Amino acid sequence: MTDEANVSRRGLVLNATAAAVAAGTLGTPHPASAQAVLPAHWTHEADVVVIGSGATGYTAAIVAREAGATVIVVEAENHIGGHAITSGGNVPLGGGTSVQKKHGIEDSPDLLFHDLTDWSVVEPNGFPDYRYNDREIIRAFADHSVATFEWLVAHGVIFVDKAPDSRGGNAVGNSVPREMHCAVMDWPMVQTGKPADPSEQATRSSGNGLMRPLEAAAAKAGVQTLLQHRMVSLYREGPHTGRVIGIAVEHRGTRLAIHARKAVIIATGGSTGNVNFRRMADPRLTEEYCGLSGMPWSDQDGSGEIAAMAIGASLWGFYNQTGEFGFNLTKPTSIGCQYGYQNLVWFPGSSVFDKARATGLRVHDWQDAIMVNMLGQRFYDETGLGFTTNNYNSIDPYTQGSWLNAKNVKYNPHDWLNAAMAGIGDGHNGGGPIWAIFDADAVAREHWNPMPPHVDMAEGFFFTADTLADLAGKIVMQHQRVPMPGENLQRTVARYNSFVDSGVDEDFAKPKPLHKIATPPFYAAWATPVIHDTRMGLRINAHCQVIDMHGHVIPGLYCGGESAGGFSQHGLARATCQGYVAGHHAVTG
Ligand SMILES: Cc1cc2nc3c(=O)[nH]c(=O)nc-3n(C[C@H](O)[C@H](O)[C@H](O)COP(=O)(O)OP(=O)(O)OC[C@H]3O[C@@H](n4cnc5c(N)ncnc54)[C@H](O)[C@@H]3O)c2cc1C
Repeated sequence: MTDEANVSRRGLVLNATAAAVAAGTLGTPHPASAQAVLPAHWTHEADVVVIGSGATGYTAAIVAREAGATVIVVEAENHIGGHAITSGGNVPLGGGTSVQKKHGIEDSPDLLFHDLTDWSVVEPNGFPDYRYNDREIIRAFADHSVATFEWLVAHGVIFVDKAPDSRGGNAVGNSVPREMHCAVMDWPMVQTGKPADPSEQATRSSGNGLMRPLEAAAAKAGVQTLLQHRMVSLYREGPHTGRVIGIAVEHRGTRLAIHARKAVIIATGGSTGNVNFRRMADPRLTEEYCGLSGMPWSDQDGSGEIAAMAIGASLWGFYNQTGEFGFNLTKPTSIGCQYGYQNLVWFPGSSVFDKARATGLRVHDWQDAIMVNMLGQRFYDETGLGFTTNNYNSIDPYTQGSWLNAKNVKYNPHDWLNAAMAGIGDGHNGGGPIWAIFDADAVAREHWNPMPPHVDMAEGFFFTADTLADLAGKIVMQHQRVPMPGENLQRTVARYNSFVDSGVDEDFAKPKPLHKIATPPFYAAWATPVIHDTRMGLRINAHCQVIDMHGHVIPGLYCGGESAGGFSQHGLARATCQGYVAGHHAVTG
């Protein structure tokens, strides 16, 4: 046993001053992927330490605190909320909530469980939504879904006063409507820096309406939140044995050690912002997919998963990440900016606008542009869609578990994303940048203002020129790894314009191409696929305890939300529910 380990086991001395633990005094610095050397001193101490202040983290923290534990939440960013606060606030908790009952919707934990494990539900491209879900994890969700919803209400979250519906729903089960919506109320929105218009505060769904009440509830309950504290590794008694006893944190260049007397809860929000991590599930997802939705508010850098793997944790549920359904990958709706996710627009009043840099140009009609790859070649019908997903009534008629469901779904793949990521045949993975090409007439039709802050010229996400050849030559940015030949772009546009004359897209069957690209200036706007959900992650059990590579519980370690695997569903319901379960079990289990 090392000297440092001896010290830590004897007393786990609490040293309250950060100065005493400047980098170097806690052992050698190590990357997030390494098992941390046990510290000589703890800088902070609590019963439960939660990593991340998003939907999972704050739910777990409040539940644990109210169960009698002292709780510290560490948050890497200088603000709370994670992707949850940027979200649409659509929450599919079901199984018989009070709102479902009020509106005469008959749901039950069993119905929810069987919906979310129904092997027979497939999308029009043949991919099954629920077949590879972990039954133990889904059972726990089904059994705690109602309690989580009522708990959110009791902790200040106001839901829009209407019947559950399908809006924003994504792999929430086919049998009954379950989607409920967090009213934004008068909380300032992170997207704008301002409250929503008073006329829509009680009816507009927003993650601000979820996370600001939880932030207030956490403060009221006595949860301590440490901003700009980034967990870099976990402390376990032995490298692959014993309890998890704390976390190593970086805070403004200083290394701190936080002791968790009972449990550490990983609520770090997933891994799709980490190129090497996400490529384990899909090798095509190379660096150019840099517009992760939810950024730049917070990243999904896989730090929770990597730290847990370093002490023996197992990953789980890779199919749920690779499967072509839902919002794992999306077609951008805003173009000419780095962050073009359809449901998140950053405005100049936002506190992160200096990082987002542009609002983007919202595309209302893809008849107004063509899309080309790095070589200036079209690759698909621009009006084509991303992947589809199961929701209430997607399959009609539907009989749970019936072989007829899959048989009755008509094969009809939505392959814009796959075509965009096909690459240019030069042996590289990844499709490279996709550019929307349009002219001055399109700008007028769409009522765009193609200038900053609407577009990001400074970082190379938007270009303009008076000729197509000049436009192609100007496209120089970090992800455009080959020059776009000007003659290619000219040829592509000329051929497309001929399709407008004939009314038939002979290459990709775009429905009746309407507008020629002919009036200068011409524009090239970043329109590359956007990564969104993480659906693979750490292996957990029904209590959200993390499981190791031998199938054993890692004592003292929990995980939920997008960093946990085994559950294919978009977002907030599984995150809040798993936070609820983890927070309880960490204290009482
Ligand atoms: C634009 C957008 C719209 C969405 N809309 C919906 C919707 O309407 N309905 C729905 O169900 N889902 C929606 N989602 C998905 C939903 O927001 C997420 O699934 C959910 O927030 C995940 O919760 P989480 O707790 O796992 O992660 P998050 O809420 O992202 O929280 C993770 C937190 O951990 C912090 N963190 C990460 N690493 C570290 C570290 N090493 N140390 C300390 N802190 C760390 C992060 O900074 C972040 O604050 C949306 C997502 C986005 C981006």
